[in-house]
Amino acid sequence: MRALQDGLSHLRTSRIKARKSTLINCASAKSKLTTPKKVLRTVFGYDRFRGHQEETINHVIQGGDAFVLMPTGGGKSLCFQIPAMLRHGVGIVVSPLIALMQDQVMALTELGVRAAFLNSTLSAEESWDVKRQMLAGDLDLLYIAPERLVMHSTMELLSDVDIALFAIDEAHCVSQWGHDFREEYLQLSILHERFPNVPRIALTATADAQTRSEIVERLNLGGARITIAGFDRPNIRYRIALKDNPKRQLLKFISDEHPKDSGIVYCLSRKKTEEVASWLSDRGWTALPYHAGLDSDIRRTNQERFLREDGIIIVATIAFGMGIDKPDVRFVAHLDLPKSIEAYYQETGRAGRDGLPADAWMTYGMIDVAIHSQLIDSSDADEDHKRLEHRRLSTLLGLCETASCRRQVLLKYFGDESGPCNNCDTCLNPVATWDGTLAARKAIYLVNATGQRFGTVHLIDVMLGKDTERVKSFEHDTLSAFGRGQELTEREWASVFRQLVARGYLAVDMEHFGSIKVTATGYQVLQGNGDIHLRKDPAPVRKHKKSAAEILASAGSSDSTSARIFSTLRALRTEIAKTTGVPPYVIFHDATLLAMAEDRPSTLDEMGLISGVGERKIEKYGDVFLKAIAESLT
Ligand code: ADP
Ligand code: ZN
Repeated sequence: MRALQDGLSHLRTSRIKARKSTLINCASAKSKLTTPKKVLRTVFGYDRFRGHQEETINHVIQGGDAFVLMPTGGGKSLCFQIPAMLRHGVGIVVSPLIALMQDQVMALTELGVRAAFLNSTLSAEESWDVKRQMLAGDLDLLYIAPERLVMHSTMELLSDVDIALFAIDEAHCVSQWGHDFREEYLQLSILHERFPNVPRIALTATADAQTRSEIVERLNLGGARITIAGFDRPNIRYRIALKDNPKRQLLKFISDEHPKDSGIVYCLSRKKTEEVASWLSDRGWTALPYHAGLDSDIRRTNQERFLREDGIIIVATIAFGMGIDKPDVRFVAHLDLPKSIEAYYQETGRAGRDGLPADAWMTYGMIDVAIHSQLIDSSDADEDHKRLEHRRLSTLLGLCETASCRRQVLLKYFGDESGPCNNCDTCLNPVATWDGTLAARKAIYLVNATGQRFGTVHLIDVMLGKDTERVKSFEHDTLSAFGRGQELTEREWASVFRQLVARGYLAVDMEHFGSIKVTATGYQVLQGNGDIHLRKDPAPVRKHKKSAAEILASAGSSDSTSARIFSTLRALRTEIAKTTGVPPYVIFHDATLLAMAEDRPSTLDEMGLISGVGERKIEKYGDVFLKAIAESLT
């Protein structure tokens, strides 16, 4: 502990010194940073580029336009950060969210990169200072909100400086069909008109074909080099369970598997996020709500805590997440169904950006289908749009009800082929299928015979021959189908109805909330066409799985000394984060600490070989981490 204290006070003074010398350091550093590889190694501390990063970077450095589609966590930022550092002038980054800008600028500053942002949080004096730096050629990257960028005064300012490139982050915000549409993004075509010789690079994690072509068209990127990275996120384990007291299921999931981890829980409504957050808090977890209706101060505080403290659970609507770069989110849980596979993949993609094991976990049930169908039907969108949304919903239901590998279904949706993954629930606990043709016919027949006006609860009562008040009042006990389904249990019938809806034989009718009707393909089944194989719902898995933190601290490393060093280094990182006011992961990622604990460097040079340790990090933290490692070994 003594070493820790000494180290920290040293760190505090060196931080102040470092601030003062930033400009000089970077100017001299820049001269030796001549190639993308060198920047990657020296500044970011990584040995090799991932996937398509290198070719994209080279293309932009040479002045070409680019359009980059990569999954969340794939490493899009380097694709514009490195060219901005190597090209002459400042790279202008259009970013839709203030939180995102602040995060990235903080992380870059920690790495010694000259970055700043212009947005409404700055005072007049502060923005003036940023502009002055830019005019003096002292910035490599400037983050700016789209509405500010297209302002006349900003355009004037930009014509007085050398611009290395324009990066348009979260480019799917131009899509009017998408869920993150931002009016101001439509005006970004002006960049090409005003600055025809400056390369532009658009980036997004949203991959459906329609959004893609909308981006290309609206941003005028017809001539851009398009790179589509593989969409697989192999470290994420996908699981989808049936709703059966979802809050309890969630609690069990968190306490069995992620007792100390950071995670996000998504709910559909604002009210529910608050309810679930306080329910979890009552049970001893640090769970904070987040939705667009909360006071902006509370929203900011909750988000900050999530970023800066370990082990916080955010319970949020979809308002939370875009631009959250926190790399060590260990789980994303959905208590309600999202509205499409894109939304699901984007939300779950926020787990495990650091590449370490992470969970995507969801509960879903018939109620979700009813709610979403109603949301679609009651929206102001035109009929075409509604049809599209219904199609997206049913594709997602297909994922929920699949008996084959979830990842295969997901990747196929994005146009990638793959084998079974062995890291999703259906791979790990294969589901049996059964010939449900007869059951399907009975179910569809009954829906039709009762006038297509009832929900599944009542229909199942009739199937099982229950004498409820409702059954009697509609005289459904006189139907020939009454009591003819006793070969299956209530739960099994619920599963049959759900799967028939998911496959489009039945549909949820929104004229009468939650009631079920027969579709055209459903009638074909009644006429005896086609065999229907249904999935047997697996029994809930009761196996205890270690938390990611436990895995990191034990299984991840080969012996207990590594585990001990790892937790010492984590504690040190938390201390430094508290004193310096940056989130822990901005100092070092878990993966980097784990590598330190295993390799146990004893000199600064050895430390520099560890992935994620660049020059600036050695300068700032090298000594204090070396000391902590040496001490844990004595
Ligand atoms: P995206 O913007 O695509 O969601 P980021 O750019 O935030 O993803 O990158 C995700 C994580 O991967 C970051 O922590 C980043 O430092 C890391 N990363 C990016 N490129 C590499 C690389 N070539 N080697 C190792 N880590 C990388
Ligand atoms: Zn699988």
